[in-house]
Amino acid sequence: MTTANSAENTSPVVNHWFNGAEHVSQSGRTAPVYDPALGVETKRVALADQAEIEAAVASAQAGFEQWGTLSLARRQAVLFKFRELLNERKGELAEIITSEHGKVVSDALGEISRGQEVVEYACGMADHLKGEYSEQVSTNIDVHSIRQPLGVVGIISPFNFPAMVPAWFFPIAIGAGNAVILKPSEKDPSAAIWLAKLWKEAGLPDGVFTVLNGDKEAVDGLLDHPLVKAISFVGSTPIAQYVYERGTAHGKRVQALGGAKNHMLVLPDADLDLTADSAINAGFGSAGERCMAISVVVAVEPVADALIEKIVERMGPLRVGDGRRGCDMGPLVTKQHRDKVAGYIDVAANDGATVVVDGRGIEVDGDENGFWLGPTLLDNVPTTSAAYTDEIFGPVLSVVRVQSFDEGVALINAGAFGNGTAIFTSDGGAARRFTHEIQVGMIGVNVPIPVPVATFSFGGWKASLFGDTKAHGAEGVKFFTQLKAITTRWPDPSHGGVNLGFPQND
Ligand code: NAD
Repeated sequence: MTTANSAENTSPVVNHWFNGAEHVSQSGRTAPVYDPALGVETKRVALADQAEIEAAVASAQAGFEQWGTLSLARRQAVLFKFRELLNERKGELAEIITSEHGKVVSDALGEISRGQEVVEYACGMADHLKGEYSEQVSTNIDVHSIRQPLGVVGIISPFNFPAMVPAWFFPIAIGAGNAVILKPSEKDPSAAIWLAKLWKEAGLPDGVFTVLNGDKEAVDGLLDHPLVKAISFVGSTPIAQYVYERGTAHGKRVQALGGAKNHMLVLPDADLDLTADSAINAGFGSAGERCMAISVVVAVEPVADALIEKIVERMGPLRVGDGRRGCDMGPLVTKQHRDKVAGYIDVAANDGATVVVDGRGIEVDGDENGFWLGPTLLDNVPTTSAAYTDEIFGPVLSVVRVQSFDEGVALINAGAFGNGTAIFTSDGGAARRFTHEIQVGMIGVNVPIPVPVATFSFGGWKASLFGDTKAHGAEGVKFFTQLKAITTRWPDPSHGGVNLGFPQND
């Protein structure tokens, strides 16, 4: 981040990272990057053109040709070093995330540690890549399988987790011998460059981790390029579907994780203090800008009034403000997004919902120009309202009242998305039935944000995931490798002569 954008605009520019070094963009196009707590543009981000897309792919292809042939022991040594450096220096990365995303520093540190878990998982790559072997499957014939890297793979990430989401993919992709091109969100691109520098310090050969900044043109360039073999995308559902369709049309492997609308089902026998604490954490943490945020509390009557009282009690003391000042909740990522989220409060009210707590106009511990919206609670939200059906992606928690467990399950299953959900209850049998019947990919039982640990795989159902492979865990290893099966006859002193028949085992 060294060059000014142009004579007229003196904001520093976040550039690309090719061949192990900053690549100053010549595209002539940039987009603003804001500090959301201050409400001002602090940087510009380069938007790649075709020449830069080609240069990124060439950088990654050269990296792959070197990296893909290195021994697992040498690759793992780099991963261990990266993990150590990340652990030592994560405070720097958290500050960068807060300055562009707005989330509070402790939350930024939380996302880094969840990303670090995947790095640790990838440190065991020698074990994850072990193939299978069957001896004497036919007379004198043995079969074994191996997993090989794909080549250059693209990661296209959203604004809400600038470190964790890329880290769901790159440690495994790199550990398995691929070269990565990361296309970060235009809204908070600096974390990717910081990570690229850390990889270099850890000893990763140049080109194995390439950063291509840009917008739709960069995304399309990666989707269309014949040397890019796979795409891991995370973002909103319409773009996920588009990326999946365009990438697969070009013969690529694509996993495209989309949006979400997550429900928490609360039964009358739930521990209401635990449930209210959880609703606050999952509804308002990171200002609700999490794909696993709880957006709707489905209260099975007669629990709603008591639960709402406890949630409201906990909302009062929440400190909203600049994430660098030890507040509980920061601003939203841009003014445009804040205005869109705030608009849903009117939509809900016009559709007949009760605004129990209105976050508009809240007093904040931060600059008056920041993109603020306080925690908001809506009750009796009609399930026909756009405030119920749309992904709001902000600190707006809706309560929908239902009369029974079955009604709650049917409501959740009728939703378009299937990312995460949770049940709060003291009844093990009800929880077991919920986990069995619910049409959602990740489920919490008395756990509000059930993001699986790195050894398991992350991904939703329905409009929350396009493609059939989830992120990290065994599915991640499978996604970033291609399988070979090798049938061996060795030695074969009596091969039986010429036979044009299809090989049969005996
Ligand atoms: P987004 O879809 O706007 O952007 C995601 C990426 O797509 C960015 O890199 C962006 O540059 C690119 N992009 C945007 N428009 C494009 C277009 N027309 N053509 C090609 N590429 C385009 O998402 P966002 O606003 O950055 O992130 C928030 C969304 O991500 C929410 O919907 C959230 O639920 C979702 N998300 C999902 C998960 C999950 O695991 N399912 C995780 C995090 C975020």
